[in-house]
Amino acid sequence: MVASSAGTPRIAIIGGGIGGLAAAAFLQRAGLPSTIHEQAPRLTEVGAGLVLAPNAVRLLRRLGAMERLDEHAVPLDIGWEFRRWEDGRVLSAENLAGSCERLYGERTYAVHRAHLLTAIASTVPPDALHLGKRCTSVTMRGDTAVLAFADGTSTEADVAIGADGVHSTVRGAIVEPTPATYSGICAFRALVPAARAPAFARRRAQTLWIGPDHHLVHYPVAGETAINLVAFAPARDYTTESWSATATVEEFLAEFTGWDPRLRELIHGAGTPGRWALLDREPLQHWSHGPITLLGDAAHPMFPFFAQGAAQSIEDAAVLARCLAHDVRVPERALRRYESLRIDRTTRLQKISHARAHLNHLPDGPEQQARDASLADEDPLIANGWIYAHDAEANETATPVSPSVGSNMRPAMTTRRYR
Ligand SMILES: Cc1cc2nc3c(=O)[nH]c(=O)nc-3n(C[C@H](O)[C@H](O)[C@H](O)COP(=O)(O)OP(=O)(O)OC[C@H]3O[C@@H](n4cnc5c(N)ncnc54)[C@H](O)[C@@H]3O)c2cc1C
Repeated sequence: MVASSAGTPRIAIIGGGIGGLAAAAFLQRAGLPSTIHEQAPRLTEVGAGLVLAPNAVRLLRRLGAMERLDEHAVPLDIGWEFRRWEDGRVLSAENLAGSCERLYGERTYAVHRAHLLTAIASTVPPDALHLGKRCTSVTMRGDTAVLAFADGTSTEADVAIGADGVHSTVRGAIVEPTPATYSGICAFRALVPAARAPAFARRRAQTLWIGPDHHLVHYPVAGETAINLVAFAPARDYTTESWSATATVEEFLAEFTGWDPRLRELIHGAGTPGRWALLDREPLQHWSHGPITLLGDAAHPMFPFFAQGAAQSIEDAAVLARCLAHDVRVPERALRRYESLRIDRTTRLQKISHARAHLNHLPDGPEQQARDASLADEDPLIANGWIYAHDAEANETATPVSPSVGSNMRPAMTTRRYR
């Protein structure tokens, strides 16, 4: 391994989203400086919300990021609510006040993405961030990763971490490059000013209205000044996958014709909603090769139906930093260990998030009635304890599985160039 002048490995992160920044922050905390290469000219996250469950909150707290989020994060004390589409009948309600903290040591929060990104970025040295650097390829030269950028520059690293999202360029250096497929589902997204939102949507609750082929979710964010509204509907021939694509309120309302009339008031507050086609990918069997690995959506994109995508990227970041810190002289082994510690959990989440689309969108009938009955019986806070109780750093000490070369691994090559 060629170490930097300080004797530490040169670590390059491609992508400065939630996962990439969290990786830099955890590495920094472990005494391993890194460089982030982000394609955008400045750090941005779209105006939309995220739910942060205890498994993510406990890691962010250790980074010092929760303190910075404090005035903006909304604790979901009223909890989670499932409602029936046509009349808003409550199918299940989980009060999180106290119970989440008692069971898992942390509350569940709703946050604006930009606030989360800023909070994590504040724990990363500013000179670590290189903006306007679109990575076009990652290749291997011996033990070293060579990163090429669209501006014609290149750099070498002892470890290259692809945190470059669902369209990951780095992924092509590890597995056969394939485009993500369209899921057939699209999302309408909006931030409704709290002053324009009906009272039921201003409560500190994450409410999910479920019905045939559609579901709609809302919760307050940004210090309760806005309501995050996201709704899922059949994409039909819509295939634009861009955080900046928009729809009209009329298109949004048309999807929810016949639903509880109270939702119309909320949707009317949506201004110009965003519209975004959800992408799909099969779970990978391996996501590391030599000094190159993946993290977050680049490794395991998932439907947002368990609200765990960002949380899993933060968990990845914490585990990866620990593995590299423990095995700093042999990064390749550290990356294999990281992957083996993470892959079962993230694959399981990808699969259950996928299955949830079917369950949330059932037409009325016997299967829907059985689902509603089980929602009434089940306590999701307990049933999903394996998600929320997980302490990624504590589990990092588990004995690693020795990974074998899987079917999706490209044959070993010393020099490779992929788009
Ligand atoms: C509607 C919706 C709701 C969601 N709700 C939740 C929720 O409540 N809770 C939760 O935990 N998760 C949620 N998620 C999932 C979450 O948004 C993602 O899992 C998370 O953003 C992934 O982070 P990431 O850093 O891996 O990837 P990204 O956020 O996609 O970041 C990738 C970064 O890499 C950069 N990049 C890409 N290519 C290159 C390149 N070639 N060179 C350099 N830079 C590059 C991009 O500009 C970007 O900054 C939701 C997702 C959706 C769509």
